[in-house]
Amino acid sequence: KARTVLLATEKAFAAAAVAKIEAVTSAAGYTLKRLENYKSKAELLAAVADADAMIIRSDKVDQAVLDAASKLKIVVRAGAGYDNVDLKACEGKGVVAMNTPGQNANAVAEMVFGMMITSARNNYDGTSGFELVNRSIAFYGFGAVARAVHKLAHGFGMKSFAYDPYIPADKIKEMGATPVDSVAGLFEHQYVSLHVPLTDETKSSINKALLQKMPKGGTLINTARCEVVHDADMIEVLKTRSDFCYLCDVAPDDKEAKDAMKAAVGDKYGKRLIFTAKKMGAQTLEANDNCGVAAASQIVGFFEKGETRFSLKA
Ligand code: NAD
Repeated sequence: KARTVLLATEKAFAAAAVAKIEAVTSAAGYTLKRLENYKSKAELLAAVADADAMIIRSDKVDQAVLDAASKLKIVVRAGAGYDNVDLKACEGKGVVAMNTPGQNANAVAEMVFGMMITSARNNYDGTSGFELVNRSIAFYGFGAVARAVHKLAHGFGMKSFAYDPYIPADKIKEMGATPVDSVAGLFEHQYVSLHVPLTDETKSSINKALLQKMPKGGTLINTARCEVVHDADMIEVLKTRSDFCYLCDVAPDDKEAKDAMKAAVGDKYGKRLIFTAKKMGAQTLEANDNCGVAAASQIVGFFEKGETRFSLKA
């Protein structure tokens, strides 16, 4: 059956990844329609009208998009976090939503180490820094990205700890990390790395009380979502604890909060505070390819074989 797959990416994939996506869709006899680097919601609403399936990145899929997409059966978020997709609205319209779990985990994990080393070496400013060996890192959430960071941490000779109430403690132990039984327990360790999805439970969950518990040189790493951290509390901790560092791939959307964090650390930018230019954890050739091809393959599997393995629940 002739099907149209809309690739709707406000931030386009690398051209090589798009070619690989198209190879998958055309092998199935589907047409790939591209809406890349679009500037307005109206363009998206127009483009979805004849789409049977949709591949997106951080693009917002809400009720308005679904209402404009009368033929849509499936939307796949090429990536891990799906807080940009209104799952309830999808369910209401009978549209299956999926993500591509694990496909960008290594990309994020390598960047976590890039940020940790930059900070530990004082942003290479000529002064003496410290090594990561024998230091401890604690994971809030122990899914695909956290496990990839853990694997690298093991290679660096670090000790890993993890809090994830959805994974049995024995399984965490089997993977070589020490289970921790509360979020607060994570903050006894020098590095705390956030790898939870943005949910009602995790929103603003990282607050002053937790950050103040961290030992000297306490460092929070955030490659998850900015909303997981309480902005005002972070600003206060950066101001009052001159030893505390925040290494962040997801700077606050709120410009005022972002500027206040920068002002709080003054010239220690790059040591005490890192903000990437935009969310960059998954911005690698490999992750683009992996996520894009997985998304296209999941769409073909869904239509041709009824596969729903990666479908998300509201
Ligand atoms: P994942 O689904 O594999 O892992 C998430 C883990 O969090 C799961 O093991 C889950 O059990 C756990 N969890 C959920 N709620 C929790 C809670 N309240 N307390 C503790 N643990 C909880 O996802 P992932 O691939 O590891 O990605 C994690 C998050 O990182 C994504 O949701 C996304 O927001 C973010 N992410 C960002 C980038 C980036 O480019 N910076 C790339 C990939 C993922």
